[in-house]
Amino acid sequence: MAYSMYIDGAWYAPGDTFPVINPADGAEWTQVANADRPATVQAIESAAAAANGWANLPHTERARYLLKAADIVEARRDNLVDSLVDEAGSWIGKAMFESGYVPGIFRAATAAAYQTSGEILPSEHDKVSMVQRCPLGVVSVISPWNFPALLSARGFAVALAVGNSVVLKPSEETPVSGGVFFAEVFEEAGLPPGVLNVVTCSRERVTDVGEELVSNPHVRGISFTGSTAVGREIASRAGFLLKKACVELGGKDALLILDDADLDRAVNAATFGSFMHQGQICMSVERIIAAESLAEEFSGRFAANARRLKSGNPRDLGCPIGPIINERQLEKIRTQVEDARDRGAKVLAGGTSNGNFYDATVLTEVTADMQVYSEETFGPVAAVITAADDDEAIAIANDTEYGLSAGIITADEERGLEVARRLHTGMAHVNDSSVNDEPHVPFGGMKSSGLGRHGGRASVDTFTEMRWITLERGGRHYPPPFLEPK
Ligand code: NAD
Repeated sequence: MAYSMYIDGAWYAPGDTFPVINPADGAEWTQVANADRPATVQAIESAAAAANGWANLPHTERARYLLKAADIVEARRDNLVDSLVDEAGSWIGKAMFESGYVPGIFRAATAAAYQTSGEILPSEHDKVSMVQRCPLGVVSVISPWNFPALLSARGFAVALAVGNSVVLKPSEETPVSGGVFFAEVFEEAGLPPGVLNVVTCSRERVTDVGEELVSNPHVRGISFTGSTAVGREIASRAGFLLKKACVELGGKDALLILDDADLDRAVNAATFGSFMHQGQICMSVERIIAAESLAEEFSGRFAANARRLKSGNPRDLGCPIGPIINERQLEKIRTQVEDARDRGAKVLAGGTSNGNFYDATVLTEVTADMQVYSEETFGPVAAVITAADDDEAIAIANDTEYGLSAGIITADEERGLEVARRLHTGMAHVNDSSVNDEPHVPFGGMKSSGLGRHGGRASVDTFTEMRWITLERGGRHYPPPFLEPK
């Protein structure tokens, strides 16, 4: 069986399909419709045709569809969990978390439907002077494979709630859990045709399909989550075309362990932050900056804890290390660890792989000339670096092109908040790992980690345009030479 695409409220099978691989065993999991550019145009045109009707529905009606969708996702949770495990290579615990989180995204988005409020401004001419928020129109949503359901939902939920129509293109690695699943859910919820379209395509087609999703004149907004390299291209193209783009990109997040840190807390935050979903999270802890006085004890305990993490059957709760998504990613991880080893890093845990499974890896004596110091790994590899004091720790943490999230572990909350203030990141968490999200918070990065924010009120700004509208009531006087003689 092959999955179809969803365009204008109907299932569309172009005949051409591409395979989706289960990363745990390398076997083909399914086939999915392979869109070309004309099919993408069709999806965008159907979104454009649906845009006005959807925008003009009362916000309460739009909210109702999202509430229904949340209930349907809950009812179909087992189904979503299965594809998150088999298609996205998720450990069962991660799949349970992600499938449980998505309904909350839809419910939080309904609050946004009530928040497209404007302002009444004072007017020198006694006009009624209003600021209104209106939807952009058609929004293209492009999502990655690591949290395919969560990040697709985050990409389009508020966009829909505030009155935009959407064309969603999930990753070629996860077209079902990141796309087709949502088409099924919203079809069941009775969403009007064209309001949410799902286009799936292979890696070979993505440049062409992606170009259409950005440059088609009907598209007024782009929500992209993925790598910095692709996001930069998309944001540049959108900038040239003067379209609004929110791009959530890569990271090289740091966990700073200050010299007064509780080591129990530090080891747990580091282990979860570095190894949850095999480190394939944009805000994974990739650099641990430990105070010199406790670095050795911390590294020993952290490495021992990392060695406990088993890989294997992703459906086994006792095997939290799942597979790496594909061979390309696996090769990148191997290359970075080899490069670090060659340049003098010590491998305290891991550095080994079995099939597509890469073991939780702890590197110490990491220096600035190593790839793992500066390049995003997106795998289960934690680089421990030491710092003499808070100033040096902050300087190392900021010594990266990225700026997504950070964690700081300290017994002194004031000190933690002061360090957080000095970090160049969009998000920072005291006494926690860098991995944190909630549907209503302004999620996003600085520097090469992206532009724009997702979540709650921030998404209302992202997916609406501000307009100034006035009503003149006799107070406006034009210069006399312009007046019609009486
Ligand atoms: P990717 O950039 O390869 O792909 C992301 C999406 O873009 C996919 O749907 C892909 O098909 C599409 N794409 C690829 N080339 C395109 C093109 N030329 N035009 C249009 N679309 C194109 O990223 P990935 O490998 O799927 O995801 C991993 C990356 O995503 C990591 O760098 C990670 O840090 C980042 N990420 C960021 C966040 C965040 O919120 N900041 C969240 C998750 C992942």
